[in-house]
Amino acid sequence: MSKEYQNYVNGKWTNAKSKAIRDIRDPGNGELVAAVPECQKEDIALAIDAAREAFDHGPWRKLTAQDRGKILFKIAEGIRAKSKDLAELEVRNCGKPLAEAEFDVADAANCFEFYGGLATKIHGETMQVPANSLSFVLREPIGVCGQIIPWNYPLLMAAWKLAPALAAGNTCVLKPSELTPLTALELGEILMRVELYPGVVNIVTGPGTGAGEELSANSKVDKVAFTGGTVTGRKVMTAATSNLKKISLELGGKNPNIVFANADLEAAIDGALFGAFANQGEVCSAGSRLLVEKSIHKKIVDGMLQKIPKIKLGHGLTSGVKMGPLISAAHREKVESYIKIGIEEGAKLVCGGKRPTGKEFASGNFLEPTIFDHVKPNMRIAREEIFGPVLSVISFETEEEAIRIANDTEYGLAAAVWTRDVNRAIRVVQQIRAGITWVNTYHPTFNELPWGGYKQSGIGRELGLYGIEEYLETKQVNINLDEAPIGWY
Ligand code: NDP
Repeated sequence: MSKEYQNYVNGKWTNAKSKAIRDIRDPGNGELVAAVPECQKEDIALAIDAAREAFDHGPWRKLTAQDRGKILFKIAEGIRAKSKDLAELEVRNCGKPLAEAEFDVADAANCFEFYGGLATKIHGETMQVPANSLSFVLREPIGVCGQIIPWNYPLLMAAWKLAPALAAGNTCVLKPSELTPLTALELGEILMRVELYPGVVNIVTGPGTGAGEELSANSKVDKVAFTGGTVTGRKVMTAATSNLKKISLELGGKNPNIVFANADLEAAIDGALFGAFANQGEVCSAGSRLLVEKSIHKKIVDGMLQKIPKIKLGHGLTSGVKMGPLISAAHREKVESYIKIGIEEGAKLVCGGKRPTGKEFASGNFLEPTIFDHVKPNMRIAREEIFGPVLSVISFETEEEAIRIANDTEYGLAAAVWTRDVNRAIRVVQQIRAGITWVNTYHPTFNELPWGGYKQSGIGRELGLYGIEEYLETKQVNINLDEAPIGWY
């Protein structure tokens, strides 16, 4: 039976002013999972008012950091207590395999715990200035934060946004993707149970056009944090100029995964497949460009082709499944259009490229893991973010050429290097223009480390100490220790 959700506003489940409802269907079999309000501007504005009131007049930001931290710990516990249900719901809403969803849910709990601990470590500093003055710096919350998240990691992205904002004492309005609002709404249930003060977090569902736009533009919002595509990120940034909001953007990538001949090739082959196909390739940091040294090119491609049959396609709740459906029929069509482009551009399709056949695939948005070989760096499939299970393999001959190709992109989110030569690894990492780099591994993500991109992959950083900085204002305080008049006039 499908569940009907309301908005979580001002500490209560509330009916939306907008009477429109959106059916949420399982992308793996088309079954109806839930119905959610399809809110527009007016409902977002009400949620913003609640967050404004909670920030300006509520107890949240006056709470001790210890107390805020304890509430975040309780949220982490609440997520863990419901982890099985949350993981299954995540699969039914966004399609990923269960093991990946379980990992995301555990990581979301860890994220609240990490920032719960960090709440008590926010501190300013004192400065020596050329005057008889006690001068110091205070860190304070920014205010009302509008947070817009995508469909590929719904609960985890909610955690990445809410946890640091709350630890710093802000209030929030979270808008999940209209395609994947369910685990964020279940998080609302947990927030109610830990008795978070009304209005501190508000979760409102609705489309980007309308709901998302209002959150970016409304002048009562002090900061907007967005994760999603670069095109939408640019729109959010433009709308945020209305009152010059603080802004952080985590956007797309066309990430190079560079394999040198002296790497552990077995490990590199594993890493190349995981980098490209984890979460169906619907990952901003996916290693969608595989740069391979010419002398081992054939070995790497053959090695990947040998392992591809192990990537079992199917509904994410089916045992042994390693790749689920894409998020929507429209998104699958977009990815397929790139496969067509790749063929037309003259790249060699060496596997995949089709929808799998069979009864179990008939009602889902499935697409085979796809590899293009002999891709040239100027082809569109090597330059544009496809955001699906499509890997482009590109050859290089020298370290300099690998670095040049790796950096020849408007993006700068992630990159990886596979080599046993530690000097080479460091040399390459130092020259790569990207915010996240891996050596002899792909994809590990830690709450402790900053996450974000160079160039058009974004502005600011999430996670770690850097993540909380994005939610803090900086205030200087000068206390004059000379009580006499300054005698200027
Ligand atoms: P979007 O970037 O459009 O969506 C991300 C979030 O922004 C969603 O909550 C969306 O709402 C919201 N949004 C959409 N339009 C606006 C707007 N004008 N103002 C404010 N918020 C808005 O991603 P798409 O789903 O359209 O995917 C398009 C492409 O973006 C993908 O193919 C992929 O290349 C990239 N992408 C990158 C992600 C990343 O992690 N870096 C994540 C998702 C997508 P709603 O879903 O309700 O429209």
